[in-house]
Amino acid sequence: MINVTKPFLPDMEEYFEYLRGVWDRCWLTNNGPLVNDLELKLKEHLGVDHMLFMSNGTVALQIAIKALELKGEIITTPFSYIATTSSILWEGCEAVFVDMDRETLNINPALIEAAITEKTTAIMATHIFGNPCDIAAIDKIAKKHNLKVIYDAAHCFGSKYMGKSVFDYGDISTTSFHATKLFHTVEGGAVFTRQPELLKKMAYQRNFGHESMDTFACVGINGRNSEFHAAMGLVNLKSINEILASRKTQAALYNESLKGLRVTRQKLNANAEWNYSYYPIIFETEEQLLKSIKVLNDNLIYPRRYFYPSLSTLDFVTKKDTPVCNDVCRRIVCLPMNHSLKPEDIQFISRILLRVQNN
Ligand SMILES: *Cc1c(COP(=O)(O)O)cnc(C)c1O
Repeated sequence: MINVTKPFLPDMEEYFEYLRGVWDRCWLTNNGPLVNDLELKLKEHLGVDHMLFMSNGTVALQIAIKALELKGEIITTPFSYIATTSSILWEGCEAVFVDMDRETLNINPALIEAAITEKTTAIMATHIFGNPCDIAAIDKIAKKHNLKVIYDAAHCFGSKYMGKSVFDYGDISTTSFHATKLFHTVEGGAVFTRQPELLKKMAYQRNFGHESMDTFACVGINGRNSEFHAAMGLVNLKSINEILASRKTQAALYNESLKGLRVTRQKLNANAEWNYSYYPIIFETEEQLLKSIKVLNDNLIYPRRYFYPSLSTLDFVTKKDTPVCNDVCRRIVCLPMNHSLKPEDIQFISRILLRVQNN
């Protein structure tokens, strides 16, 4: 069976080495030494000044919204994982959808200004599949209208924009270290900011607002993560270059062996370095997509319709017509991609897709 993603598992002995230390210290969670070490190593690896390791990518988004004290309307993309929208709603704000760009699959900056009202407080955009948004355009609009910017960078480990980690942009960037993501800590996530005051606030918010044992700086939540999760991150980080390199090779092989397949691909940001975190293809019709998925499934291959349906069509949102997203999300699928996928697998998948098309 081949799934769209497969968690990376490191050398078990190396993981156990870290656990020995946990047993010695009997310090399991609450900002332990491994959490601190992971934060240090990630900051160094990514070249960013500030980050906080969190329990998951969704809490990271929620804390980002809280820390910026956002109210009212948040402009966002209909093409993302549901957590982008649900965290806005969970924080009592309204998600205002702005359609995506047909080529980059990210929010279309040219449509943002028309959606701004006096209730708008922020833009929350996703760098979809690790391909950075038009950050320059979004930041310019935000500045002009005095809006905050949050980037959901859940797919972005290893992606760069203008030579820097894409996590370094926006008022706050968030990411996910969930097991299926390119770099993971089993469950986990993070917030990034360049503003020390915001960092301090989010550090309190991550830990119930505790300032000391008996004093509280603000309303907080439990957003912390454990030593066990940090240990997984510390071991996995040693393999990150290998993981990134294997994706790049696999993408090149897919490109090669899918020649002749009538699909289009995401247009990559020219100012960015992509991390090859997913391999999305866009079919000409939904019928073609469904037929292809069916035959792949018959062969125990499970690609996934990332992301379907359009978030702007959910029952619990303020509906908005987003024709580009509604159209593209019916025709897009992510093919399997993971560190252990073999060239034969990619060739097999490609042959099936070509056969379905040419039948
Ligand atoms: C995975 C993901 C999240 C949620 O992260 P969790 O760690 O699973 O909570 C949020 N946004 C996007 C775009 C994602 O892909």
